[in-house]
Amino acid sequence: MDLDTRIAQWSGQLPPGFVPHAVIRQHPPRCVQPRCKRPCARKANGEWARSCQPCLDRRARSCKRRREALVAEGGCRRCAYRKRAECDFLCPRCREDRDIERAQKRRDAIDAAAIDEFAAQPERVHKASNLDCGISPWNARPKRQASAAYWSPLPDPEPKSEQTWRQSLDDNGWRLSRH
Ligand SMILES: [Zn+2]
Ligand SMILES: [Zn+2]
Repeated sequence: MDLDTRIAQWSGQLPPGFVPHAVIRQHPPRCVQPRCKRPCARKANGEWARSCQPCLDRRARSCKRRREALVAEGGCRRCAYRKRAECDFLCPRCREDRDIERAQKRRDAIDAAAIDEFAAQPERVHKASNLDCGISPWNARPKRQASAAYWSPLPDPEPKSEQTWRQSLDDNGWRLSRH
């Protein structure tokens, strides 16, 4: 499978330079707003918007006015639908969301700094260590242990006095003794 296809599948985004199939369409679709018969506007990415440009502008202005009115009445600066908390310009929920976003941004910055620091390190020649050679306390053989026979040897099965083969029959060793 193509690597670009895999990356696109994993990331869920089209690969750079991908040209989608051209949709042959002579007439742009009509604006979806009621009682508006103008053709739809173009979005920045070339797709058709759902409404015409005057309707888009009108709706954007309406949203802005509504937000301004709600904020003037004490609404949150971010969502504008909940009252803002005391001594704050955000509602508790937006404040929490913003704190989370800030913490994530900080975390991302720290991670990016760590990655950059690692990438800035010069490449070193790999030197084999004992671990690379397989010498490790984890795969070593167990130490030898004394068996029970070492600590408690069996008694001599035959006393030395009965081992007559140790004594010569015709030599009692008189030459080795001192007179
Ligand atoms: Zn319209
Ligand atoms: Zn809010």
